[in-house]
Amino acid sequence: MTDQTRHALKELQRLDEELRDARDEIEQVVESIADVDEPALALESDVGKTQGRLQELRVEERRVELSAKEKAARIERLDERLKGVRNVREEAAVSAELEMVKRSMESDEQEAYSLIDQIRKLELQLEEQQSALEQARQEIEPRRVELEADRARREAAIAEMDEQRKAFVETMPESEIRMYEGIRRGGRRRAVAALTEDGACGHCFSMLPLQLQNEIRHGVALIRCEACGVILAQPVAEDEGDDEAAGADAGAPEGDIDTDG
Ligand SMILES: [Zn+2]
Repeated sequence: MTDQTRHALKELQRLDEELRDARDEIEQVVESIADVDEPALALESDVGKTQGRLQELRVEERRVELSAKEKAARIERLDERLKGVRNVREEAAVSAELEMVKRSMESDEQEAYSLIDQIRKLELQLEEQQSALEQARQEIEPRRVELEADRARREAAIAEMDEQRKAFVETMPESEIRMYEGIRRGGRRRAVAALTEDGACGHCFSMLPLQLQNEIRHGVALIRCEACGVILAQPVAEDEGDDEAAGADAGAPEGDIDTDG
């Protein structure tokens, strides 16, 4: 156990903090991309609905048209029959049927006109929606491209940081890495903290027994705070400028309180 090791653990912790922040930032970029896409997605949904409705109306219009055609053929046959009727009763019956089929055919034709009208209106609406969608896509494109590039840059940076971390970890004793990872796996961000000048844990500020303080100061063994479990590193000299520095007033360490419990 050397002084260097404990510094290495702190360096590893710094790298992990950077990685965590970088990943949080990527999540924000991903959210921004979703926000940018949102108006276009809403328009896409409108276009899809209109296309679906148009399809239904076209099917219905074809059905009604076919029905009108069948009735026209029937009317032709009834006209033929009317020419060959043998008595007034038969004539009345054929005429009545003919009238009924004609009315029904007219009704079909009216319905077909109405459907064609609806289809035209919907086609115009679809055109408007499609051009609005196209416009929205063009408007968001530059911002989208920018955000995607930002995301790609950040992902590349994270991959590089991961490589650095891997290389760094290989230089450290496995037992220390295991202990460090074990503490962090518990969901804690802080796995290493410096002993304060007056011998307290730099994370939870519990005082340590003198014997342990000495062992930490001399880097004899890897010692964890009994109260909060962090690995304790040697006190950081003020001139190192570390955020864990206890400061000139050893009784009031600064910058070492985190909120993750
Ligand atoms: Zn502690």
